[in-house]
Amino acid sequence: MKILNFGSCNIDCVYSVENIVRPGETVPAFGLEHFAGGKGLNQSIALARAGAQVFHAGCIGSDGQMLRKLLQDSGVNLKYLKTVDRNTGQAVIQVDSHGENSILLYGGANFAVTRDYIDEVLADFSAGDFLLIQNEISQLPYLIEKAYAAGMRVIFNPSPFQQSLGDIDLNKISYLILNEIEAAGFSGLSAPEEFVIWSRLNYPNLRVILTLGKNGSIYFDGNARIEQSAFCVKAVDTTAAGDTFTGYFAAGITGGKSVERSLCLASCAAAIAVSKKGAAPSVPSINEVEKRLETMLPYECSGTEQKKRTVKAYFENHLSDASLGGLAAQLGYCPSYTGRWLKNNIGASFSELLLSARCRMLAAELEDTELCVSELIARTGYNNESFIRKAFYREYGCTPLEYRKRKQGEKYDK
Ligand code: ADP
Repeated sequence: MKILNFGSCNIDCVYSVENIVRPGETVPAFGLEHFAGGKGLNQSIALARAGAQVFHAGCIGSDGQMLRKLLQDSGVNLKYLKTVDRNTGQAVIQVDSHGENSILLYGGANFAVTRDYIDEVLADFSAGDFLLIQNEISQLPYLIEKAYAAGMRVIFNPSPFQQSLGDIDLNKISYLILNEIEAAGFSGLSAPEEFVIWSRLNYPNLRVILTLGKNGSIYFDGNARIEQSAFCVKAVDTTAAGDTFTGYFAAGITGGKSVERSLCLASCAAAIAVSKKGAAPSVPSINEVEKRLETMLPYECSGTEQKKRTVKAYFENHLSDASLGGLAAQLGYCPSYTGRWLKNNIGASFSELLLSARCRMLAAELEDTELCVSELIARTGYNNESFIRKAFYREYGCTPLEYRKRKQGEKYDK
């Protein structure tokens, strides 16, 4: 399995000005700095620093050799990077004395990506390989069609969003990673929860990762939903947050990590990037991320997160006397709204959640005690033994006894 990032490389020219220039005006700039940029380049660097082996394809001009060196030094494989007879893509950025900016983006060599070049590169990749793309190069629809036809799994970060992206068939995408603005661009809906519904209705097989800045991120597909908080840092420069997140998430998923773990690493890496100045230089290494994860705290939970914790704690403490009315009182809702709230925010009904809490308790006790299964089932507060046994089988894929044996075997192996 190989990973190819087909994306942009830019030189960011950052001019410091008192006030951003207006039409017809000439203003002096009192500083000029050059940085490596482009979403493609940033994401390849994030993938490499996350420990993935990534091939970067895309075009630069002969003036872009510093970008080649940076990618190389970061461990990106440049076998497919092409130097063409055009200027390297450039972002001309004015930053005023209040930190406001204005950006002029010149695609340059990023728009020298041709169908022939795409064919040439993709010829080396096959079914099951991953293709990561953003929206800063030419021939994007063709690239998606070809990769999909070859059986590659496409991870799409539709950034920056343009209306023309609405023509792309998202059924050909395996993972869509996008922020709120891009989500609104596709769906025309501004609330994240509305986008979740829209996406599930229109693309039930799509796996979506919606990033919400300081409010964290949500993974969802047709069935599952996983939420990840952002980590608490002092924000210095949010430029590369999305790119660091995307690169780390892609590295996690392509490396066989679970969605939960990939989200957690991506969120931590993005928080570290936000706490430092610059784009590519602020992308941390996997060692730094793993170390910081031990001490970093998630942002104070949002209202929804807090309520989800209340729900979890309620079921754990009321296994034998849980009632919808009791939970509603804790949440401060009426019972009928509580039922709807659980469905919308946790994706399960009151009785499903209670049953799953009972199975969790049974699993924990099977592992920690030697008591017989019937006695443990009675402790869950529900006396229909065969019902609990069936539910347990559905949740854990084995009988309670098999579960105990497996856990004991694992302990013994250690
Ligand atoms: P983009 O940079 O593409 O607009 P977001 O702003 O949604 O994307 O940020 C992507 C991810 O970066 C978030 O899901 C979060 O994990 C992290 N992040 C963004 N801003 C912050 C912040 N101020 N503090 C901590 N983490 C942040």
